Amino acid sequence: MTIHYSPFTMSYQHIQQAAYDANMQLPRLGLVLFTFGNVSEADRSLGVFAIKPSGVPYEDLSPDKMVIVDFDGKLVQGKLRPSSDTKTHAVLYKHWEHIGGIAHTHSTYATAWAQSQRDIPIFGTTHADHNTVDIPCAAPMNDEMIKGDYEYETGFQIINCFDQKKLDYKETEMILVGNHAPFTWGKNAARAVYNSAVLESVAQMAYLTETINAKAPRLKDALIKKHYERKHGPDSYYGQ
Ligand SMILES: [Zn+2]
Repeated sequence: MTIHYSPFTMSYQHIQQAAYDANMQLPRLGLVLFTFGNVSEADRSLGVFAIKPSGVPYEDLSPDKMVIVDFDGKLVQGKLRPSSDTKTHAVLYKHWEHIGGIAHTHSTYATAWAQSQRDIPIFGTTHADHNTVDIPCAAPMNDEMIKGDYEYETGFQIINCFDQKKLDYKETEMILVGNHAPFTWGKNAARAVYNSAVLESVAQMAYLTETINAKAPRLKDALIKKHYERKHGPDSYYGQ
């Protein structure tokens, strides 16, 4: 039997496969329960991203079920409804032009910090290896935003928080959305999922740190600087 693919279908397979692979990592890494969570991968030359369909259990997913949406959140291709968080992904892709993947989970420790409406303090070098700032927690949305286009406004809640705190989304690839849960991103979907796992681990360590010592100090500036330079400085050697 010969399978005839239309060029239209063919053109999205690479991001559908990448989005599928990344989504399947979430339950394997213990970052989601049931159908919680979603990951997307963008192709900027095509101006679209592939995202998990809404409400489909992970074991029933396949690459061809990933839904194709443009950066305005409009459906481009797919029989299933895209994830309910699709508009949040679309806003981030549209405004932050260097990201190629986004992940959203309700992982336990990161979500607990989000529900506590607290930034995660930088307590140690595990945190500093990935971020040299406290992991930001965006303020809960105001009532007007909640009553409006909720998922779309969540994207702006994230962008506004980065603007207010003068953070660079290319340096800090994660955020807690107050009263909700984390969003992470990166150059592709795999990197976004990696960041979700790192964030969950850092959130757990920070929680335990405060439990053991409620007055635990933040990491010393000299160590923060050292870790920043290890990654970015002229003599950077991190990751070799
Ligand atoms: Zn959510």
